[in-house]
Amino acid sequence: MRKKGNYLMIDNPDNIFNTELNPDTVALIGIPFDEYSSFMRGPAKAPSAIRQTLHNGSSNLFAENGVNLESHSLFCDLGDLALPRGEDAMTAIETAVGRLAEQKARVLALGGDHAVTFPVVKALTNTHDNLTILHLDAHPDLYDSYDGSRFSHACPFARIMETGRVKRLVQVGIRGMNDEQRRQVDKFGVTCIEMKDYRSKNPIVLEGPLYLSVDMDVLDPAYAPGVSHHEPGGMSTRKVLRLIQSIQCPIVGADIVEYNPDRDVNGMTAAVAAKLVKEIAGVMIRQVK
Ligand code: MN
Ligand code: MN
Repeated sequence: MRKKGNYLMIDNPDNIFNTELNPDTVALIGIPFDEYSSFMRGPAKAPSAIRQTLHNGSSNLFAENGVNLESHSLFCDLGDLALPRGEDAMTAIETAVGRLAEQKARVLALGGDHAVTFPVVKALTNTHDNLTILHLDAHPDLYDSYDGSRFSHACPFARIMETGRVKRLVQVGIRGMNDEQRRQVDKFGVTCIEMKDYRSKNPIVLEGPLYLSVDMDVLDPAYAPGVSHHEPGGMSTRKVLRLIQSIQCPIVGADIVEYNPDRDVNGMTAAVAAKLVKEIAGVMIRQVK
């Protein structure tokens, strides 16, 4: 496994081709970008903080299903993308993820704020038709524009649904709904399961290929204080893990976004994010026959 310090320079995207990946490899890639955060910066520091926690020796690299990332031939850490600023960063992310998808790798992206999900998913729609997205978040992130920006981290799922290339968007854990975003839910036909209505015993029926997007603020701030937007009344860590571990359909890509190290307490949110890396990668790897 490649550990931190192995950087891919996006000013030369061909570097991604220099890494030989087995088909279906879960390729961990850091996207240190938080320019489109509306409230506070910080998530750009997340990928290195999460990696540090993953490798600090406090825990092993086993997922709960028995997959060991430490030595697995289907897991690779590609380091962080070195990104230009603004909309050029969006293009660079899309290019890099597109290259990985062409190699039949499955990206596991570490944000960054939630704005990075738009270019990641956009790239994947070139190789995957009929994508379903499972989006875990306190917020719908469906604004047409926010503070004058259409690329804000409050907008990525509006941009994604406008492409017309995603079959279904399923949101779980929402507790920041308002009238404007309710209209967007209706406009785009989003399946939105608000936290107040979510019952873990009612399974969510999903068809693959699936993209999984986890905003850390889907968790209750008691479990994950290291996020920019504290939204009480959220999920426990175990509820999120159970939901992820129950996924049956093929996951073709995933992200973990909005961890903000500046807001963390004793690295406890970094530990949750590192746990999610192991569990999401574990499920993805176990799906390969
Ligand atoms: Mn979000
Ligand atoms: Mn959120």
